[in-house]
Amino acid sequence: MITTCPCCGSTKFVSNTVLWDGLIKEWGLKKDEATYINRQQGYTCQGCETNLRSMMLAYAITQVYGMTFQDFLKSDIRILEINEAGHLNKYFKTMRNHTLVEYPEIDMMHLPHRANSFDLVVHSDTMEHISEPIKAAWPVAQPVFLSVKQGSMPLPRNILKKRSN
Ligand SMILES: [Zn+2]
Repeated sequence: MITTCPCCGSTKFVSNTVLWDGLIKEWGLKKDEATYINRQQGYTCQGCETNLRSMMLAYAITQVYGMTFQDFLKSDIRILEINEAGHLNKYFKTMRNHTLVEYPEIDMMHLPHRANSFDLVVHSDTMEHISEPIKAAWPVAQPVFLSVKQGSMPLPRNILKKRSN
């Protein structure tokens, strides 16, 4: 269990329940699935209200770049955010080289940016809606691609290449 928020440094958390019985029944969730979602979405930093899912994305960024999240925010890293990446948007938008694109104004399958325009692509609730997600963002940002949805762990470049073929 995470004990310090990578975003704000708070050590105070609260476990909120985000699913209710009627919704669990309607979605046909098993008990462990409901527990997982409640934890992922409801375990929240009391300092900055970032939930576990977003804290794990921030943590993954610190591991990829070998710096604190605060130093990452002050860096020149060129970040493309495809649809607001949960609670992290408020942090990302403070970065000098931050670009936010949102559907339907921008279609991820037809990103208008030149090749290698970004060092990092982050997104939230996006990949499951398009047919070839890796191929879509690969041309504009080859190095690192982080997904809030997929548990927020970075995929090595060779895996991305294999998947995009
Ligand atoms: Zn926090």
